[in-house]
This record gives sequence, structure tokens and C-alpha cells, in this order.
Amino acid sequence: MSKQSSPDGTQLVSARNGSTPAAPADSSADDRSAVPAVPFSGVSIDFSGDTGVAAPSAPAPFADLAIDFSGAPIAAAGGPAVATLPGSPGYVSAHDGRTESKLLIVGSGPAGLTAAIYAARANLEPIVLAGSTPGGQLMLTSDVENYPGFPDGIQGPELMALFRSQAERFGTQIVDVDIDRVDLSQRPFRIWARGVEYKGEAVVVATGASAMWLGLESETRLRGRGVSACATCDGFFFRDKEIAVVGGGDTAFEEASYLTRFASKVHMLHRRDEFRASRIMVERARENPKIEIHTNTAVEEVLGDEKVSGLRLSDTETGKERTMPADGLFVAIGHRPNTEAFRDWLEVDAKGYLVVRDETNSQIEGVFIAGDVHDHRYRQAITAAGDGCMAAIDAERWLESQGITEANTLTAW
Ligand code: NDP
Repeated sequence: MSKQSSPDGTQLVSARNGSTPAAPADSSADDRSAVPAVPFSGVSIDFSGDTGVAAPSAPAPFADLAIDFSGAPIAAAGGPAVATLPGSPGYVSAHDGRTESKLLIVGSGPAGLTAAIYAARANLEPIVLAGSTPGGQLMLTSDVENYPGFPDGIQGPELMALFRSQAERFGTQIVDVDIDRVDLSQRPFRIWARGVEYKGEAVVVATGASAMWLGLESETRLRGRGVSACATCDGFFFRDKEIAVVGGGDTAFEEASYLTRFASKVHMLHRRDEFRASRIMVERARENPKIEIHTNTAVEEVLGDEKVSGLRLSDTETGKERTMPADGLFVAIGHRPNTEAFRDWLEVDAKGYLVVRDETNSQIEGVFIAGDVHDHRYRQAITAAGDGCMAAIDAERWLESQGITEANTLTAW
């Protein structure tokens, strides 16, 4: 999620994964209004290049981390190219530029980095292929108020920087690259990223899932200024406001119902006259006096300069256009699991998520799965982190069963 301006123009902070819904939203009583204009711990997140359906990009997000470049013979060792800042393409955080490890971890959200912490502490010296926008969905978040251990909340990027430095402290090598290709046909498993081949005796896939967007320029421009993809995170900011939710699946109905706790009115906008959502969810919405359902309705444009002021809508049958005043738009049209590189190797379910067996196992021995790339039910930082822990423990036990690691780490987590 992102920085929000409240509908009355006050600069607010949105909170993917958890503002406290029950807390008062009256901005006069809300100390969030004191949050500085750039709430990402000094990190600027640029949504401008993201007009597609996948998650926005977050350049150079680890600005606050202390980085020691002193002993960096990575290029000399023939390893990946060294860039200057974490988050830059090809940046390698450790010194040795290793390309082989007992464990490769793909993904650097809570699942991937928790797997790294556990694996590193078990002496697996993991390599994390972190993606070119490392840190996962929490990098697009400001306040996180439901991650245990932070009673006053924490900024998403700051939380991920802490995950990262904890993983590095125990010997994890993190490379900020997107992977291009994998070969899981035999061990060691091989993964290519920016022309470099990485080898691992085991792999944890923790590539996450990205919220889908409508793909409108105005939606991207006003994201964090009234446009959101997470009601749990941002509903709080719309007390007594009129808002809209787009989508016709269970998520849209669930979010609409949740948002009625805050908003004076919730308009549900769906492009067809039939819903994917379960009947009971639709019935409940129909019975809720705060919800109005608009079928055969598409969003053509989000109106507003600095913040959302309305929507330009079209009738999908007649093409007739109209405008609707609204202070916010919640986009609830699904998530897309990031499985592209693994699609030829790992089983996906009907919704495109990776299939796990027996907790974190894939159908390939030695390949483990953690986090939102398989979990479309909970999608929380804490559940992903728990999953990453489980995957690392399973990987370590499996490596041990193969005689690749010694049987001395089971109690050393
Ligand atoms: P779904 O894929 O089920 O629904 C997505 C909705 O968004 C559809 O109505 C679709 O319209 C609409 N949509 C997609 N793309 C666009 C677009 N570009 N413009 C406008 N509308 C668009 O996703 P959900 O996130 O709702 O649900 C995912 C899964 O999670 C489902 O299986 C759901 O049952 C489950 N879930 C269960 C919950 C529960 O049980 N409590 C809560 C939330 C989710 P169209 O129908 O026309 O394609």
C-alpha cells in the first residue's frame, strides 16, 4: 500500500496488512496526521512506470541500510555484476559473489527472507535471488500495525530492511535480480538471472503474488491518494465518505462489506450482471443498506488531481457514460501469483497458485514453496513469514536426509 491523502486532503498513511480497523478514524484524534509527507522512512516509491496489472515497482528501497562495500571482489570472481545500491539491478549484498549454495531462495518478501534467516542460522549459507524490486508487497506499504513485535507500528520498507539485515547477519547472500529461467530437472537445481547461473541443492520458491489493477493511467496516478487495493489497510481513512469498490468476486464483496464499517456509502461496480462471488456474499451485500451494486459498469477513469474526487463510468452494454462522485476507489479484481518462471516445473491450481503438499513441499523433491505464491487465503506478512520458516526447516531436514548437511542443526534454529 501507499501513502494516502485523506479525502479531506490531510496527508495520511495507508497500511497494507493492517491498520487497526477499530481505531478512531477521526483525523483530529488520529496522530497519523502528524506523519511526515514522505512516510516511507525517506524512501521514495515511484508508481509512475506501473500502468499494468502487476504490482508497482519500488526503486532502491533500502536507503537506510548500512552497506559495507569494502571487500567486494565479486566481479573479479566472475560473479554477478555489482551495482551501487540495494535494489539496483544485480546488486549483491554479500562479499563473495557465490553462485552455488545448498539452498537457493527465490523471492525476498517476508516468506523468502524468513526462510533465509532460518537457513542461514542452520549454516546453509543461502543465496536469495531477491528480484529487481526486493522486499515484496510490504515495500508498497507505509504503516504496518499488525506485525507482532511492533506495538507502535512500523513502516513496511523499514520492516523489510530489518528482515534483510537479519538474514545477512547470519551469512545470507542477497542478489537483487529477477530470475529468467529455471531447470529443476536434476540436482543441483539451476536458476539463471541476468545471465548468471546459480546452483542449489534445494530451492525455496517464495515469489509472492501481486495485486491486479485496472491498468488506467488515472488509477496509477492516484494510487495512495484514494485508490487502494486493500480495504483492511486503507478503509480506516474513509470514515463517513462515499467510496467505490470494483470487482465481482468474493474479495470485492468481502471488502465492500468491511468498508461499510467506515464509509457512509459503498458503491460496488462490476462489469457484468453475474458475479463470481458466492451467492451468500452477494445476498448479504444486497441486504446491506450502505451498499449499492451497479452491474454492467466499467471504470473508465478515476477523477481528481491530487486525490480522488469521482469516477467516470460506462455502461458495458450501452456504452453510455456517467460520472459518480467518490472519495476513494478500492480495486478488488484479484491477485496474480508470480509463478511464470516455475510454470513448466511446478503444479499450479485452477487459480494459478503453486500447489503445496504436506505443508511446504512441491511435487519435486528438494523444491519447497512458501508464502503468497501458494496462499490466496491469508496473504499476510506474518503468515508468509511463518511459511518461510517452515520451508527452511523442511529444506534443511531434506538436505540432511540426502547427506548434504550434517545432522546437527535440528535443534539449532
Ligand atoms: P476473482 O478472480 O474471483 O474475481 C475477480 C473479479 O474481478 C471478477 O468479478 C472479475 O470480473 C473482476 N475483474 C477482473 N479483471 C477485471 C478488470 N480488468 N476490470 C474489471 N473487473 C475485473 O478474484 P477474487 O480476488 O475475488 O477471489 C479470488 C479467490 O479467492 C476466489 O476463489 C474467491 O472465492 C476466494 N476468496 C474467498 C473469500 C472467502 O471465502 N471469504 C474471500 C476472498 C476471496 P468477471 O467476473 O467479469 O471476470
